[in-house]
Amino acid sequence: MTTAELHTDLRTAVRALCARYPDAYWRDLDAREAYPDAFVTTLTEAGYLAALIPEQYGGSGLGIAEASIILEEVNRSGGNAAACHAQMYIMGMLLRHGSEAQRARYLPKIASGELRLQAFGVTEPTSGTDTTQMKTMAVRQGDRYVVNGQKVWISRVQHSDLMLLVARTTPLEEVTKKTDGLTAMLVDLPQAVGHGMTVVPIRAMINHASTEVFFDNLEVPVENRIGEEGRGFRYLLDGLNAERILIAAECVGDGRWFVDRARTYATDRVVFGRPIGQNQGIQFPIARAHVNVEAANLMRIRAAELFDAGAPCGAEANMAKLLAADASWEAANVTMQTYGGFAFAKEYDIERKFRETRLYQTAPISTNLILSFIGQHVLGMPRSF
Ligand SMILES: Cc1cc2nc3c(=O)[nH]c(=O)nc-3n(C[C@H](O)[C@H](O)[C@H](O)COP(=O)(O)OP(=O)(O)OC[C@H]3O[C@@H](n4cnc5c(N)ncnc54)[C@H](O)[C@@H]3O)c2cc1C
Repeated sequence: MTTAELHTDLRTAVRALCARYPDAYWRDLDAREAYPDAFVTTLTEAGYLAALIPEQYGGSGLGIAEASIILEEVNRSGGNAAACHAQMYIMGMLLRHGSEAQRARYLPKIASGELRLQAFGVTEPTSGTDTTQMKTMAVRQGDRYVVNGQKVWISRVQHSDLMLLVARTTPLEEVTKKTDGLTAMLVDLPQAVGHGMTVVPIRAMINHASTEVFFDNLEVPVENRIGEEGRGFRYLLDGLNAERILIAAECVGDGRWFVDRARTYATDRVVFGRPIGQNQGIQFPIARAHVNVEAANLMRIRAAELFDAGAPCGAEANMAKLLAADASWEAANVTMQTYGGFAFAKEYDIERKFRETRLYQTAPISTNLILSFIGQHVLGMPRSF
């Protein structure tokens, strides 16, 4: 089977699975601020969330190109892959930097769905994007780390068995480079919550299961540390290209969903005795949104090819994320305008997807930070921070 055939088959299969979870399913969850448990279980049982886990650990050992098709199709169907995308990219840190004992212990259970690794604890209220300034401290005491501090916007904690936590193990004042002294560790959530860890849901604009997390002398066994102490920031950076490409694919999925809805509505809706899509003021913005989504998709494909070939892809992965997030947001706005007043009615799902795709201007990395990466690392302009 050629790669193109494999991709078409994969796309068709994921699309069929997603068709079992129509708009009404996601709309109802959104109204109740509930987690798509049934959908995530189905996706896991079908093996899709284990796409990037090597076969020796029970996964399907596919590349980022295939993993990104899976997430794209979830969003293309009207759903939201944010409910489960994190496992795909968090798992990479365990795979690349965890010990063989950790891989053997966790990966097969993650692949089978027995364990969910969906939570990633990095952002803090006072430091935000400036990760190296994080205040959460993990102090080693014998065979444990004792963790104190606070995280914010940590998603899916209540729907996960494990959280990958990044905390400071050496105070900022004591490191030569500010990127040193951060350490990654796995937190066993059923054991931790109520025993040094408190989770408080955040009511938000989108149904994203995000929480604030407080640590008060939480004990984490040293054996849960991923890789070497103090190298957590480097491990974080290692995983960013995969994350950027996967998010770009979700945005492409969103963008295609919006363009599809807009063009259908513009063709069917008759006002002043003709379809609104006959007016170039409605037709051209939809056409332009389509062009931009498809252009962004090419960059996403390029980034995925480089990634899967083991070639450097930082520039392409970042450009793909920026272009795709902008294109999906443009498509969202165009669709809102095309639907007129009905865009605001929940039953059409436009306002829900509009809210959901807006996130990708800000998280997991904001547009400004990508532009800063391109300006500094790709174009060689002066460092701004
Ligand atoms: C729904 C949701 C889910 C999330 N899930 C998670 C999660 O699971 N785990 C996790 O760790 N985090 C998560 N986050 C956090 C997310 O990654 C951060 O919100 C994001 O990185 C921005 O950080 P901040 O909110 O502190 O913004 P800030 O860092 O305060 O930035 C605010 C604005 O200023 C801009 N800015 C800041 N510094 C500069 C600069 N030097 N130059 C130009 N512009 C600048 C930023 O681009 C941004 O637009 C989530 C956020 C949301 C909203």
